[in-house]
This record gives sequence, structure tokens and C-alpha cells, in this order.
Amino acid sequence: MRGRFGPFGGRYVPETLVPALDELEEGYAAAKADRRFRAELAGYLKDYAGRPTPLYFARNLTRMAGGARIYLKREDLLHGGAHKINNTMGQALLARRMGKRRVVAETGAGQHGVATAMACACLGIRSEVYMGSKDAGRQSLNVYRMGLLGSRVRTVDTGSRTLKDAISEAIRDWTANVSDTHYLLGSAVGPRPYPGMVADFQGVIGKEIRRQMRGAPDAAVACVGGGSNAIGTFRPLLRTGAELVGVEAAGRGLGTGMHSATLGAGSPGVLHGMMTYLLQDADGQVGGTHSVSAGLDYPGVGPEHAFLKESGRVRYASATDEEAVAAFRALATAEGIIPALESAHAVAEAVKVARRMGGSKSVVVTLSGRGDKDVGVVRGRAAAGGEGA
Ligand SMILES: *Cc1c(COP(=O)(O)O)cnc(C)c1O
Repeated sequence: MRGRFGPFGGRYVPETLVPALDELEEGYAAAKADRRFRAELAGYLKDYAGRPTPLYFARNLTRMAGGARIYLKREDLLHGGAHKINNTMGQALLARRMGKRRVVAETGAGQHGVATAMACACLGIRSEVYMGSKDAGRQSLNVYRMGLLGSRVRTVDTGSRTLKDAISEAIRDWTANVSDTHYLLGSAVGPRPYPGMVADFQGVIGKEIRRQMRGAPDAAVACVGGGSNAIGTFRPLLRTGAELVGVEAAGRGLGTGMHSATLGAGSPGVLHGMMTYLLQDADGQVGGTHSVSAGLDYPGVGPEHAFLKESGRVRYASATDEEAVAAFRALATAEGIIPALESAHAVAEAVKVARRMGGSKSVVVTLSGRGDKDVGVVRGRAAAGGEGA
């Protein structure tokens, strides 16, 4: 069924939002079928964002792991330092094609807000980014960065003053201004058509991997927050023999309750317009999450991942804060590459996968972003003498 992944996905939204989602679904279907739209997007991804990204054979990390050859898909080299620009550029171009002069978005740590501000500046579209006032205080540099890029940051003072309150405000704004406004969602989550559309835009990652490997690797590993870099990696590999592994944040450990391992420890429910796996209590109250990496700190997950888990096609593992920080340090020392802490979760698991495979096999790990933004966090843990220091 359209926009459904088995029992997951769908549109669990108030009626007032349905016309806007219908218009977006039709607009995207028309754009997707239009060769000129696809060529224009490919042009921006090449000349503005820096695609194709290299597939790098990590010789030293491979030697350390002592097994399969490990390759890094270098999304960290993109403009802005992460895969997020693949999606924001696609949606901003779609918004312009649909005659929208204004984009609204929500952001937690600020990375999606910055990627939205970049794409909108590039295409000459006005953008406003909603951010909880607590998050804005913690991420003041990203707030300033969005301002430099010409975006207006609207801080939200309701509720917990974090991401979920920012999402509510962005949706309220979209509902009231749908004639000239597009809501630019940041991951493969939310009501139809968002999860499928974002997966299409991020699918460029897996398509390039197939071309660069001249076929499918023996395994592919990616981290899972909302799940956009992972679904972009996996989708073009689903019908191959590749072992596919998504890696969630186990935080301080799955037994502590302080983690973001939605698929590993959650159960089905409804959040942000979709049926998916959630971290929730017996009454369906969505639980608090924890991860050393802000980008994985989300109590839901894209509905296609919920389906791929239940079908058994993809295995979902997790890495703790400590394991991620150790992998962050290992990759920096071994290869001279500082990964985002989100991506470091995938690196930790990729080393385990490689170790149990023979030397003739290949493992691709998607390096979703670079780690400059995380150096302060790792330094702070070391100074505190914390685990993984
Ligand atoms: C935002 C982010 C993620 C998590 O988002 P997904 O939608 O799960 O890909 C992972 N890595 C980096 C570097 C990010 O910025």
C-alpha cells in the first residue's frame, strides 16, 4: 500500500493537515517523474554539495579489525559536513518547483536547521527554523550560524522547550500558511509522503556505493537516528545479498533506560504522524532518550526501518556512548579522520562485523558526518575522566 511499510508508516494527523500532505505528495510525484527536476537536483548535489562522495578503503582500520576490507562512504566531506544536505537540497528545490516562497523547519541540535538554511540561501528561498529555547541556549553557535545563512530562528518557549515542541510549532505554522510554505522535515520520519521522499533523496548514497564497488559489498553498516542516512544506504542494496546493519545509540547501556535504541528496546506506537517503533511506557507516554550524540537522540524511528526489522532483512544493533567515543578516537588515530559521534556508532559495529568476516570480504560503513562539532564533547568527557576518556 502507498506510503505503508507493512503495518508501519501511514498518516496519523489531524484532518487540517491532509490537504497539505496531498498537495506535497502530488507535487513530489510530478517532480520525481520530471527529467529536468532530477537533472537540476543532480547539478546542485555535484557542484554545490560535492557529490559524488569518495568511497575510501580504510587500510589501517582494516588492519586493526583484522578481517574484511573496510570502506568508508565519505558523506562527511559534503558541504556542511554531513549527509543532511542531500535531503534539504532536494526538498528546497521541490518547494521552489511547487511555487512555495517560504520554508519552515524544526531543529534539535541545529544541524538540520543549518542544512536547511544553506539550501534555502542557495536557492533564494526564505527560511524560518523553529527551535526549542532550551536547545537554542545549548547550541548558540548553530543559532548564530543559521542567522549568518539568512535564516530566521524562532525559539519556542512551550512544553519541554526542545525538539518536540519545535516540531509542534513548525506544523502549526505550516497548517496556517500552506499556500506559500513548505515544511522541510529533517529525516525519513513523519506522515506520508515524507519517509519515502526523504529515502529517495538520501538513496543517492547507496546508489553511489553500488557504482563505486562495482556491485554490492558483502555488508553495509550505518547509524540510525530518524534513519535517513541508513535508509539511503540500505534501499539500493535491499535486493542484493549484502548483510545490512543499522546501529542505534545504546547510550549508557540498554539496561539503564538511558539510551535511544528505539528498535532494540521499543515497541510499536504512533508519533509525529506515523506508526512506528517508539520508546514508550506502558501507558504509551513517549520516553526520554539519551545519547552522547545529539543526532541519534530521538524516541522514534523511520517506519521503513520498523518494517525492515520485523521482516528480518536488516539487523539492528547498538553501540554505547563509550563504544562510540572509542571508535571516534580509533578512526581519528588510524586514518586521520574525525567522524561525527553519530557515525562513530556505525564504525564501532563495522569493526565487529569485519572481524568475523574473511579477508576477501568487504564492509562499507557510511560516515554520515564529520566530527568537528563533537570535539568539545569528547574533550569534556576526557577532562571529567569519564568512560571512554
Ligand atoms: C542528523 C545526523 C544523523 C542522524 O540522522 P539520520 O536521519 O538517522 O541519518 C546521523 N549522523 C549525522 C552526522 C547527523 O548529522
